[in-house]
Amino acid sequence: MAILEIDCPICGEVLELSDEDRTELEVGDAIVCENCNAEMEVTRNAEQEFEVELLGILTTCPNCAEEFDVTEEMLAAAPTLQNGSGEEVSLVRCPHCQAAVELSFEEQAEA
Ligand SMILES: [Zn+2]
Ligand SMILES: [Zn+2]
Repeated sequence: MAILEIDCPICGEVLELSDEDRTELEVGDAIVCENCNAEMEVTRNAEQEFEVELLGILTTCPNCAEEFDVTEEMLAAAPTLQNGSGEEVSLVRCPHCQAAVELSFEEQAEA
């Protein structure tokens, strides 16, 4: 069975889709990266062609527990800082309660 590999645009994790997965996906459906929760929308699903578009990173606010999407634009505009453990984090605002939410993206460490 053919396996289609998609690189996650956020963390680089390879997402594998089997033929069976693909037949269940329709344009407009979303795929979520298991590693970083990036959400991608299927924009094309034809015989040899499969395309996704990054929607954002599905994030759960630690303050109000609402889910929201962090988009690339939000990330680009977000200030970065170091948290207590020296990790670099991006600070975005929850659209529901306006709490500042720290986001960190783990790079895959193995070289
Ligand atoms: Zn990812
Ligand atoms: Zn919130």
